[in-house]
Amino acid sequence: MPDKHDKKHIVVIGAGIVGVSTAIWLRRAGCEVTLIDRSKPGLGTSFGNAGVLASCSVVPVTTPGLMFKGPKFLLDPNFPLFLRWSYLPKLAPWLLRYLSHATDKDTRRIADGLTPIVSDSIEQHRSLVEDGPAARYVKTSDYSFAYTDRAAFEDDAYVWELRKVAGFEPELIEGEAVREKEPAFGPAVGLLAVMRDHGYVTNPGGYVAALAETLEGMGGKLVTAEVTDFELTGGEISAVLTNNGRFECDKAVLSTGVWSKELAGKLGLKVPLESERGYHIVFKNPSFNLKAPVMVAAGKFVATPMDMGLRCAGVVEFGGIEAGPSKAPVKLLKKKVKETFPDLTYASEEEWLGHRPAPSDSLPLIGEIKNTGVFSAFGHHHIGLTGGPKTGRLIAGLINGERPNLDLSAYDPNRF
Ligand SMILES: Cc1cc2nc3c(=O)[nH]c(=O)nc-3n(C[C@H](O)[C@H](O)[C@H](O)COP(=O)(O)OP(=O)(O)OC[C@H]3O[C@@H](n4cnc5c(N)ncnc54)[C@H](O)[C@@H]3O)c2cc1C
Repeated sequence: MPDKHDKKHIVVIGAGIVGVSTAIWLRRAGCEVTLIDRSKPGLGTSFGNAGVLASCSVVPVTTPGLMFKGPKFLLDPNFPLFLRWSYLPKLAPWLLRYLSHATDKDTRRIADGLTPIVSDSIEQHRSLVEDGPAARYVKTSDYSFAYTDRAAFEDDAYVWELRKVAGFEPELIEGEAVREKEPAFGPAVGLLAVMRDHGYVTNPGGYVAALAETLEGMGGKLVTAEVTDFELTGGEISAVLTNNGRFECDKAVLSTGVWSKELAGKLGLKVPLESERGYHIVFKNPSFNLKAPVMVAAGKFVATPMDMGLRCAGVVEFGGIEAGPSKAPVKLLKKKVKETFPDLTYASEEEWLGHRPAPSDSLPLIGEIKNTGVFSAFGHHHIGLTGGPKTGRLIAGLINGERPNLDLSAYDPNRF
């Protein structure tokens, strides 16, 4: 902990779940903290995710065989993988690197790397919120995976084996017992693989906003500004430059999610980072709500009971961060929701497109960028809500010179 007469001033850039978590842990460690975002906290990707604290989500999308299955999936209108073809030339270099990790060796290495970031998610969220205004959003619950039948579950054996290695084994429920547990399911669901001791957030955007409020209550400063560059003195950060002035600092944290590539580039770091675009639909005033979040394997979407209704979120689409939403992914998502919950009726629906920050090797970047005094905290793919608080705690520890009891080399931002 820094001496109180020698407080470090840290600028944290980006007020998503990763940035607010980092800012709170830094403030708790006695640093002066300024959190800068170009809009209000929690309006980036952290706004619209499925809300699951998915401790068991240690397996990346790039599992063995994807190289061959991927093109087939893309051409299958019933599979929730999409590509905006005009974006392919830009995507190609990243895509080749991404697919090169779809081997058994790399999938296991990535799973080993993700495990410490996600596996204690509930404890990390509880430590983060304490009894502040964000606490009411965090629920402990089961997290189930819904399959058509046992054969479909067994098709996922590789993934379940890796989850088992990470310490997560499901309880299986089959046949009519499925509907006893969750009456909303139609006949398309014949097996549930239930993970105990998981959790979810009942309004991810509201949660991040409440965490930002917590930070302010602790004396942290919130600034609305677009960060444009860094000022280095002798190779080390001395100020963060924005369209709303210059912010002097001792260290900085780059936690701008999918938008981090350009800013990292200003420090000479080339990161193979893409958007894995995803969508949600909120069904407002639904005829039922679920008891706990469910990942529907056949549709690759998660249905979560939230404050604002039933949120169904998922789909992977490649197409960059500039293009607006596409029609086909939302249409397929609706179709899959209908197949899963045939009796669902609702008053209205709201659609959203978001950008999962996806480094080509599926591991987040957590550590110091070169020796600049700027720390990266981005690239959390599908697990940013789950792993944001742990990441923030690790970064705060690094900035304050603590030695983490975890080997961080897998997350080294300089690894590419
Ligand atoms: C459909 C979908 C479902 C998902 N479901 C889950 C789930 O159930 N569980 C889970 O763990 N994860 C889930 N995720 C992933 C998760 O949402 C992300 O990994 C996470 O939100 C990333 O958080 P972040 O703080 O890194 O980025 P963000 O939340 O995107 O925050 C980045 C912030 O940086 C700001 N910013 C950007 N550039 C600048 C700049 N130049 N100057 C100032 N500010 C800037 C932005 O305004 C933004 O507020 C899902 C994602 C999607 C798309």
